[in-house]
Amino acid sequence: MTRPVLCWFRNDLRLADHPALTAAVATGAPVICVYVLDRSRPWSPGAASLWWLHQSLERLGAAIRGKGGRLVLLKGGTAEALKSYARRTGAGAIHWNRSHEPDQRACEADVAAEMAEIGVEVGRHRTSLLFEPGTVRTKTGGHYSVFTPFYRTSLAAHDPAEPLPAPDRIPEPDATPPGDDLADWQLLPTKPDWAGGLRDAWQPGEEGARDALGDFLDDRVTAYREGRDIPSEPNTSRLSPHLHFGELSSRQVWHVTKYRMDRSHGGPVEVNGSAFLRELAWREFSCHLLSRTPDLPEAPLKPEYAAFPWAEDYDDALTAWQQGRTGYPLVDAGMRELWTTGWMHNRVRMVTASFLIKHLLVPWQEGERWFWDTLVDADLANNAASWQWVAGSGADAAPFFRIFNPIAQGEKFDPDGIYIRKWVPELRGVPDRHLHKPWEAPGDLLSGKSVYPAPIVEHAGARQRALDAFHSLKKG
Ligand code: FAD
Repeated sequence: MTRPVLCWFRNDLRLADHPALTAAVATGAPVICVYVLDRSRPWSPGAASLWWLHQSLERLGAAIRGKGGRLVLLKGGTAEALKSYARRTGAGAIHWNRSHEPDQRACEADVAAEMAEIGVEVGRHRTSLLFEPGTVRTKTGGHYSVFTPFYRTSLAAHDPAEPLPAPDRIPEPDATPPGDDLADWQLLPTKPDWAGGLRDAWQPGEEGARDALGDFLDDRVTAYREGRDIPSEPNTSRLSPHLHFGELSSRQVWHVTKYRMDRSHGGPVEVNGSAFLRELAWREFSCHLLSRTPDLPEAPLKPEYAAFPWAEDYDDALTAWQQGRTGYPLVDAGMRELWTTGWMHNRVRMVTASFLIKHLLVPWQEGERWFWDTLVDADLANNAASWQWVAGSGADAAPFFRIFNPIAQGEKFDPDGIYIRKWVPELRGVPDRHLHKPWEAPGDLLSGKSVYPAPIVEHAGARQRALDAFHSLKKG
């Protein structure tokens, strides 16, 4: 009897461009698709990500069933769970796509060791990235810590690999030992069910990801370069959660976008003309950085920032920021968009992060943790690299002394207040001229009940305090 082959899924919850699945099916043996929920690993998914994971697994399971196969759900320590399942099924081999995350790579090594013990062959395949981590090098063989030369070199070297088609069929063994029921994992919030805004905003799963990419390229990509900084307008792709969960690979996004660019131009065009693909390459840059910097989510990349003099007692300030009650309209709008939809516009992410770090002197790791729990696109590489970018301690980071003025940012990027009024209903009646500084509005806007809070810190004073802290670090 032919021994079945396992295909281990992680953040690659798709059937197309899935090298491990393609290889497993190509063996000609029956294939069992497996997902393991392992809550013991560091940075296990936060609440919003678990909501997404539930939806995505449900859809992946249905898609696999549509091809004649089955997705088996296992829970527990990954290596032990896979070993025990491989034994139960008599599997002859297991295939997976590599991860770029150091902890996941350590987990892969554990799985490989367990499989060797029971004589199960291991097939490791490409990550979901454009290029494999470690393959984009400087002329002297070093790693890039600045984005632009990284981007230039990666593009100059070669095109990302062509995406693979989804298999036509995924043949199941005659008897597949069952796993868990997804519902029993209780990934969805119930008491209270806070996920209504997430349900309204997103369509998780491979099909939703393909639709999101198609809609963006049909309708909005032309407005991207000029319009990507305007938070009230849907000019960006909103692909980030789909990319994080691997419902699309970066290679697929790249090739479909490039194909569309060439077609609309009537011939091949230079990829580096695309502002959108440049952002996708920022994702790549973060992932490559994390792959060689395991403590990126915890420790400043520039070690001198470890001694930064943060505020000593910041609990109240952190809570006000989390709840969108800082008194700065753009900051509060962003934090409330995040709470409601599990996502925040990039421009506003930069402003809210800068405000927490610089105006409130709260360690960036606190903000990173909150984003981790509340974002549907919470991504270890992008989240850590971006927080460190804002804090000034990261790779190719904004210098610390560049402190976003939350009032000026609102005036520039939300001049008509459409975004602020959407997310901060208390300010709907405030005229434009006072919207970004509601504390200057006449009347009793800032007193009484259910009203907008007064600013938690005064901008100029907070800015100076941040600069003083930064200079003390440099002297120390
Ligand atoms: P688009 O503008 O359409 O870009 C396309 C894709 O490129 C995105 O889906 C994303 O994968 C990538 N991308 C875009 N901007 C960046 C960037 N600045 N850095 C790296 N990759 C980028 N992104 C995450 O995916 N997960 C996170 O946890 C995350 N945390 C962040 C925290 C902070 C403090 C900041 C400032 C940024 C963070 N970002 C994070 C980056 C960025 O804000 C989001 O990727 C982007 O807003 C997602 O929206 P989009 O898909 O419409 O992006």
